[in-house]
Amino acid sequence: AKKIGVLTSGGDAPGMNAAVRAVCRAALARGMEVVGIKRGYNGLLNGEIIEMNARTVSNIIQRGGTCLYTARCPEFRNKEGVQKGADKCREIGLDGIVVIGGDGSFRGAADLSAMGIPCIGLPGTIDNDISCTEYTIGYDTAMNTAMEMIDKIRDTAQSHDRCSVVEVMGRNAGYIAINVGLAVGAEAVITPEEDYDLDAICAKMQKVMKSGKTHFLIVVAEGVGKTEEITKLIQEKTGVETRATILGHVQRGGSPTVRDRVIATQMGYHAVELLEKGIGNRVVGMRDNKIYDVDIQEALSMTKPFEDELYAILNDTAF
Ligand code: ADP
Repeated sequence: AKKIGVLTSGGDAPGMNAAVRAVCRAALARGMEVVGIKRGYNGLLNGEIIEMNARTVSNIIQRGGTCLYTARCPEFRNKEGVQKGADKCREIGLDGIVVIGGDGSFRGAADLSAMGIPCIGLPGTIDNDISCTEYTIGYDTAMNTAMEMIDKIRDTAQSHDRCSVVEVMGRNAGYIAINVGLAVGAEAVITPEEDYDLDAICAKMQKVMKSGKTHFLIVVAEGVGKTEEITKLIQEKTGVETRATILGHVQRGGSPTVRDRVIATQMGYHAVELLEKGIGNRVVGMRDNKIYDVDIQEALSMTKPFEDELYAILNDTAF
């Protein structure tokens, strides 16, 4: 019988547990053995391996974070590290590994696949910044958390004459910002992908203030890197009391949404189907709303369009 491992690597995201659970249960259902590898590639090198049965993954589908822990592993970036990882796999008798993480983790998975250990990558990050897939595990939960937080900020901002500038996560991408901005009815969304004109935003604010609007909400993606500066400028230019809120790591936690749990489960299941056939060096993703898989090198060379349409809609409905 085949024996496979599963690990989470890089940043954590809600829904990773659902993916681990699906990998474990799907493999067991096919008569395969499963082990969990703790702390990303570190656990492979250090032998932090746990035997998994169906009960090991009980009661985790609803939990944020990752029960396998996650870490970065600098040693895996060089050939000796990967060689050591491949040797460990042979020692343990692993016929494949499911790696849940981001592009960096997929590079490690490609290197390990090249050394004869078939690896399948699953996209796990709240940022949705992985090009080969329309959707990443954790994205929906993070957006819902940010939306709920901003709704609360709006309640208090609305009670005063105030402008709230809210920074959301997303690393260098503005996917969370544009979707959440639309969902909370922000007056403007500032992302790394699109040019912005603060003077124009402030001019619009001043214009609608004359007709009685008293509160404003601006969503800024962390990747812009200028939240404090933007906040100060808006107050200077409009005279409206303006406060910045940085939502931060709350967006990484929490119980995963239906969408994250379902897609994590589908992706985990698909990964096991591939490994069962001995197929490796693939990333599982979503394309045209369907689960698919793609060669890792190809996945890493892809680019993905930004939400230009949402951006245009937001700008036409914001004021
Ligand atoms: P993410 O997977 O979220 O993009 P990182 O870029 O930090 O996060 O990568 C996670 C881990 O993947 C790294 O700590 C390292 O172990 C492995 N990794 C990253 N880049 C490479 C690479 N070029 N070659 C091999 N392994 C890599």
